Amino acid sequence: MNAETMTPGPTLAADVRAPLFDGPFEGSPRAAELIARIGDFLNGELAALVHEKGIDHEHSPDKATLQRVWRRSHELGFYGMTLPAQMGGLGLSLLDHVLIKESIYSSGSPLAPHVFGELSGPPRVGALARFASPMQLAKFILPVAQAEKAICFALTEAEAGSDAGAVQTQARREGDVFVLNGRKRFISGSPFADYAVLMASTSDSPERRDVSAFFVDLGQPGVEVQSGYKTMAGQSTTGDIVLTDCRVPATHLIGETGRGLALALGRIAVNRLLHCPGMVGLATVALKDARDYARTRRQFGRPIAEFQAIQHSLADMATQLAAARALMISTARQLDAGGDARADASMAKLFCSEAAFRIADAAVQIHGGEGIVQGRRVEFLFRMLRMYRVLTGTSEIQKNIIARELIGEAK
Ligand SMILES: Cc1cc2nc3c(=O)[nH]c(=O)nc-3n(C[C@H](O)[C@H](O)[C@H](O)COP(=O)(O)OP(=O)(O)OC[C@H]3O[C@@H](n4cnc5c(N)ncnc54)[C@H](O)[C@@H]3O)c2cc1C
Repeated sequence: MNAETMTPGPTLAADVRAPLFDGPFEGSPRAAELIARIGDFLNGELAALVHEKGIDHEHSPDKATLQRVWRRSHELGFYGMTLPAQMGGLGLSLLDHVLIKESIYSSGSPLAPHVFGELSGPPRVGALARFASPMQLAKFILPVAQAEKAICFALTEAEAGSDAGAVQTQARREGDVFVLNGRKRFISGSPFADYAVLMASTSDSPERRDVSAFFVDLGQPGVEVQSGYKTMAGQSTTGDIVLTDCRVPATHLIGETGRGLALALGRIAVNRLLHCPGMVGLATVALKDARDYARTRRQFGRPIAEFQAIQHSLADMATQLAAARALMISTARQLDAGGDARADASMAKLFCSEAAFRIADAAVQIHGGEGIVQGRRVEFLFRMLRMYRVLTGTSEIQKNIIARELIGEAK
């Protein structure tokens, strides 16, 4: 997509509300105010940057441009706002967090993921603060929160995907260091990150799964980030981290040995929910693009929006979007109320990802031939939203979790 097609969308006032229809805003007045301010940032400075640098959804901006976005977002008070209050965040409710993130993604800006540093910023470290030592807080967490450093989260390996506990990267204790050997696969943000939160096995027995978490400096000897492969969305923000006799100080172990997975997955319901506003926001963009195209594209002497088949398709898309949003919002409310919401968060992730993809597919269909030409936004959204059915826990894994919560463990 070129810079022209990325001109800002409708004003935020329209995007704040239920995406396409008028209705009361579900969040707090403070969230509404933040959404308006972030909207100004996206539609103003960031739109100008997109134009100046020719940034589009297909090509990741270089690290210098990303740093510029992160630092400016931090100066404006947005970057770390989702962190806990003791780390400089605003202590937002999850509902407000979800609604703000939805509004950012529904702007359609290719810089949307970078306003909060989704790939390598505060969302990667917020949950770690309570396990981190004062040294780790000062050295790794605060610089990330303040947009000075970037960090990625490295769990997946070639043989440890859905079965996250099957980590084979070894961390062998030698005096006051751990020596790490192994290879992490598909790590988002690793090509431009300074550090990784990295999971490795500290077990000396193949039968026992003792996964531990470490802060690893990606610039230190024994670490190589291999990137360059692209996802189907055309982006190359993902890389492998290769560890060869990498000596990590024992003080970089996060929490206790063997607690890495608990630490990584401890907030899994929240993390699952927090993927939903991205999908819902992008699906909103697809639906709006399809609606606007149907209003202007004429065939048989009239706008195609006058054909009932197109109207029904748009109505189905809007209904699925409303259902996805409703599930996302009710899960946020449950978690805010202190509920466990494990099944709900999986249902939200499952339904939002599947519905968002169906919406993108229908949006491509409404665009006809224009929808399958590279450079059209719906064509990109179709590929992007396809990925969410796999990422961060596949649809099948979400169903396993929902069924387990429903049925209980088989006796
Ligand atoms: C672009 C991208 C970015 C990523 N970013 C990160 C990152 O930042 N950090 C990180 O650690 N990881 C990251 N990942 C890894 C991602 O989380 C995994 O790809 C995902 O969890 C699925 O694992 P897998 O690819 O190994 O698939 P597999 O686990 O091999 O699954 C293959 C198929 O088998 C199915 N399946 C597997 N087990 C079961 C089961 N028990 N029941 C039913 N079906 C099952 C799956 O649903 C899927 O359909 C990223 C991946 C990609 C592609």
